[in-house]
Amino acid sequence: MRKLKYLLWASSNYFSSSKCPICSSNKTKVIDTKYLVTKLLECSNCKILFRHPVDNPNFNKIFYQEEYIEKNCLVTNLPNDEALKKMIETDFVETDRNANRIYAIIKQLYKESELNNLQMIDYGSSWGYISYQLIQKGIQVESFEISKSRAKFGNSKLSLNIKTAEDELTGEKDIFFSSHVIEHHPNPSDMIENAKNLLKDNGFFYCYCPNGSEEYLKKDKKLFHLAWGQVHPFYPSKNYFSNQFKNNPYYIGSNLNPIGIKKMLNNEQYIGDLTGSELIIISKPNIHIKDS
Ligand SMILES: [Zn+2]
Repeated sequence: MRKLKYLLWASSNYFSSSKCPICSSNKTKVIDTKYLVTKLLECSNCKILFRHPVDNPNFNKIFYQEEYIEKNCLVTNLPNDEALKKMIETDFVETDRNANRIYAIIKQLYKESELNNLQMIDYGSSWGYISYQLIQKGIQVESFEISKSRAKFGNSKLSLNIKTAEDELTGEKDIFFSSHVIEHHPNPSDMIENAKNLLKDNGFFYCYCPNGSEEYLKKDKKLFHLAWGQVHPFYPSKNYFSNQFKNNPYYIGSNLNPIGIKKMLNNEQYIGDLTGSELIIISKPNIHIKDS
């Protein structure tokens, strides 16, 4: 039913403007098509890949309160008390929402002695399962989630303080973290700008998202095709992030390479393997290494 609604909406908006929803450029290139009425376009200016027709700016708020329930997916379905107890006892390992791989990278960004004084934002935290685990490891985490029901769940069941208004977030953070959020955001570049403002001068923007890079498209056209559409209006790529952070140190890759992380820490720009389904981006957006 939801899909039918989406396709009807897409058909009736087929001739709507195909301007880039981020930078308003008219110059776009078709990368892929789906169901005849939807297209994946790449903006020639800011390099974002976006779905056409584009969402109405007010759509996001309503959609993520009411409709966004990906079946069997822990991001949106709330566990019952028994399931939650088991998750906590087993460190979330059975649910694919364990924070170890996130923390493993944080440990590469800081010295052992610095790990207990870190202040971080978990942006788009859902009900806070990542925030909760990182707090157990000694990091001070401020969480933000657009869905009031998920924030309420995390606040009552995990004793968190998840905020639902972005302007309640406070600055001077070491890390601005997000996992599979930027591709849903109404404006990914605004999200990055917001991150810069909330970070210390040497703070890190640390992000996971689906990989819209051409290297992945070439490697697996079928899977590439599946990862954009109704719930993913954007498909961020190496080209988008390397343009966003063109004057800053960055690490862009679809898996972890400690050599690349070291280069980024030395204020270099590193692009690793890009053939996986996911992108990891770590940048120091307030450190300028080139003149713009
Ligand atoms: Zn653009």
